[in-house]
Amino acid sequence: MSVTPTKPDGSIVALKTKKRPTAKDTRADSGDPRPVEHIRARFPSGGRGRPWQDVPEDDWLDWQWQQRNRVTSLEMLEKVIDLTDEERDAFEASHAQFHMGITPYYASLMDPEDPNCPIRLQSVPQKGELLVLPTDLEDPLAEERDMPVPGITHRYPDRVLFYITHNCPVYCRHCTRKRKVSDPTSAAAKKQIEEGLAYIESHPEIRDIVISGGDPLSLSDERLDYILGRLRAIPHVEIFRLGTRNLVTLPQRVTDDFVAMLRKHHPVFVNTHFNHPKELTEEAFEACRKLADAGCVLGNQMVLLKGVNDDPKVVKELNHKLLMARVRPYYIYQCDLSQGISHFRTPVEKGLEIIEALRGHTSGLAVPHYVVDAPGGGGKIPLLPEYVVRKEGKKLILRNYENKEFVYEEP
Ligand SMILES: *Cc1c(COP(=O)(O)O)cnc(C)c1O
Ligand code: SF4
Repeated sequence: MSVTPTKPDGSIVALKTKKRPTAKDTRADSGDPRPVEHIRARFPSGGRGRPWQDVPEDDWLDWQWQQRNRVTSLEMLEKVIDLTDEERDAFEASHAQFHMGITPYYASLMDPEDPNCPIRLQSVPQKGELLVLPTDLEDPLAEERDMPVPGITHRYPDRVLFYITHNCPVYCRHCTRKRKVSDPTSAAAKKQIEEGLAYIESHPEIRDIVISGGDPLSLSDERLDYILGRLRAIPHVEIFRLGTRNLVTLPQRVTDDFVAMLRKHHPVFVNTHFNHPKELTEEAFEACRKLADAGCVLGNQMVLLKGVNDDPKVVKELNHKLLMARVRPYYIYQCDLSQGISHFRTPVEKGLEIIEALRGHTSGLAVPHYVVDAPGGGGKIPLLPEYVVRKEGKKLILRNYENKEFVYEEP
């Protein structure tokens, strides 16, 4: 059992008893061969924002220091970037509903002078959040309705979503689960996790567990080890996936101890959430490298966001960088109907245009599935540009990525 002091939701209070990681631990060579320099050179360090120039390296690389020093107030944010009046107003008006929280690492990726910086749009409150359209929904994916026990969404026959915390290092402004995330009263209690485990144990049809939140990596290694160990002991559980944005917002969390813990529980899949090539820094690359070297299979789930990545060139660059970091682009999500994110929504046409611009033009490995998570709990529905031009009897007229037509004779 865990000896780490935990909050009721199982997240750690502080690891005072443990030696904190030093620069050497987090940068240390685990003995795995390093990617060549010209690949690494594509991933420049995220650097340090204005307020953190003199922070000792050991603090900066310590994920708990990063957690403790998150930017949560307007006063602190003013020190990081040149705020616009609009951002200031949006902060004041949105604060009570959905807190702001940004790790110093992620805040350092923001362009202090550009209000349209893609990192800034994802983490600093915007005016658009205050607008709730009549078509917006509080629980757009009906995740609550499909909950047989609190904390488990069982929608598909053979797999479940398992929420184990509601904390995240950075509160993404486009978050689908705004209603829960950053709300301390919705924290998944230990009892709830036990009930979720019991549900999975008693349902032999469940072979795949999507471990989600919040961000599961908000829990301590000890707590995660316990949960993964319990899941691994269930004979019908074949795989699980950790859905985490820590690789993006707090890559320091991926310590050598953490990956050593994961190694015990293979096969482990890690699905992360990079939205823009700027997020693929040296630090993020290192976190991906450690996980991949530890044998995890990495996938990325991008959310299509207006002003951030609604541009085929940006997505292509993102996906090429992901592949170099050994992360396979898995999904592009159409922005859902959560409240207060309408300013991020693009037409579905945009998603189709992106897929069209990728397929054939670059590695198939760089082409994810574009999906709409159907409002009302219909699940993920894939959308593709139309490649069937017409049918003439048994002749199927198809077009390729260059819009050239080809005939396939059906049997
Ligand atoms: C996304 C999701 C899954 C996993 O779906 P895959 O297509 O297998 O990645 C499972 N359950 C729920 C409720 C989901 O939303
Ligand atoms: S990491 Fe995921 S759950 Fe957490 S705020 Fe961002 S989108 Fe929401």
